[in-house]
Amino acid sequence: MIQRKIILILADGLGDRPSRTLGGQTPLQAASTPNLDALSRSSSLGLLYPVAPGVTPGSDTAHLSIFGYDPYTYYKGRGPFEALGAGIDLLPGDVAFRGNFATVDERMVVVDRRAGRSLKEARELVEYLNDNLRVDGVRVLLKHGSEHRFALVLRGKGLSPDVTDTDPHAVGLSVNLSQPKSHSEEAARTAAVVNEVTKQSYALLERHPVNAERHGRGEPKANIILLRGAGSLAEIPSFSSKYGLKGFGVSGTAMIRGFCRLIGMEAPIVEGATGDSNTDVAAKAREAIKALETHDFVYVHFKATDAAGHDRNHELKVRMIEKLDAMVGMIVNNVSGEEVICVSGDHSTPADLGEHSADPVPLLIHAPDCFAEGLRFNEQTCVHGVMGRLRGQELMPVLLNQANRIKKFGE
Ligand code: ZN
Ligand code: ZN
Repeated sequence: MIQRKIILILADGLGDRPSRTLGGQTPLQAASTPNLDALSRSSSLGLLYPVAPGVTPGSDTAHLSIFGYDPYTYYKGRGPFEALGAGIDLLPGDVAFRGNFATVDERMVVVDRRAGRSLKEARELVEYLNDNLRVDGVRVLLKHGSEHRFALVLRGKGLSPDVTDTDPHAVGLSVNLSQPKSHSEEAARTAAVVNEVTKQSYALLERHPVNAERHGRGEPKANIILLRGAGSLAEIPSFSSKYGLKGFGVSGTAMIRGFCRLIGMEAPIVEGATGDSNTDVAAKAREAIKALETHDFVYVHFKATDAAGHDRNHELKVRMIEKLDAMVGMIVNNVSGEEVICVSGDHSTPADLGEHSADPVPLLIHAPDCFAEGLRFNEQTCVHGVMGRLRGQELMPVLLNQANRIKKFGE
C-alpha cells in the first residue's frame, strides 16, 4: 500500500458569498483559475466548517481546529501565537501579548491606535523598550512583528494570563487599566505589571528622539504601547506525535509560522513571502516542493485573500485568488502526482462583510485514486461534492485516509 505524502494549501479567508459587485458571483467563481480548475476536475469536493456551523473563527482557532486540535481546549489567547511567530521562544508560565504602538494625548486618550500605521521606526523603538523597560522580578521581552505591531512577553514567577487588555480598541477612549479577570494573586500581580509597563512606555517613548522627529514632520507620535490578547502556552501534543507525520509549514505571516512551531512543525522565514498582495508565490512554491522531499506533510498558507476580504475589495480578492491559482499550478506541476493535495481556506471573509463569517469554505481533495467530480472549484460546486460537509477537526483523518495512513480499528 502506497503511503502518500500530503500537501495542504489554505487560502486565508477564501470563502465568500455571491455579491452584486461581481454580478451575483463569489470571487472564486469570478476569478480565472485554470490551475485550480484542472486540479478540481480530478478531485473530490466538499465544504469545510473550520470549527463548526455557526462559529465564526479567527485564523488562530481555525488553524488549531483544521490541524485537529480542539480550539476549545487548546486556544489560550492570541498573544502566544504572535510571540512564537515573532521568534520568541516561549516558556511555560510566560504571559504573551499582542502589542502595537499608538498615539495618545497628554490625558492618555488614544488619538491613533496605530501611530500612523506605517511606523518605519518601530524596530528601533522596540529595541529601545527592550533595553529600558524595568519591572522587579519580571523580564519584559519585546520583538517586532510588522509595521506598528510587536509581541510582548512577561517572564517570571507567579504570573497569569487572566488579565484584560490595555487597548481600548477605539480612538477617543482612554488607555485601559489592565484588570485581573480572576481572583488569583497571580492575575492581580500581572495586571499591576502590565499597568507599570504601560506607564513606563509612555515616559520612555514620549521623550524619545524618534518622536521629536515625527512631531516635527507632522506625523503622529508613537508614544505608548497598547497590549491585548494575553495568553500562555497550552500543553499541546506535537503534530508528529499525533499523526506520525513530519510536517513543514510555508507562510509569510508571523502568526501562522508561530502556530506551526507551536505544534512542532518546522516553519522558517521564506525570503519574499510577505503575507500581503506582493508576496512571492514562486518562492513559496519552490520552498514547498523542496520541503516535500524530506517531509511527509507540507502546509502552504496564502494570506492575501483574507486581507482583500477585510478591505471589502472584491476585485482585489479576485486577483489574489488568481495569484493563489498560479501558486497552486507551480506546486501541482512540479510534484510526482502521487501526493494527496488539499486546497481550502481557514474560514470565509466575504468581501461584502469585510469580516470573517461562519460560512463554510470550499474544499478540494485530490489523490490519484480519489473520486473525480469533473467540476470547477467554488462555493457552489462544492455544495454537491462527495466529501460532503466536514468540520475542521475531521479534515486530517480524511486526508490521512486518502494518504493510506490510517491504522485499522478492530480486527
Ligand atoms: Zn484566517
Ligand atoms: Zn482575517
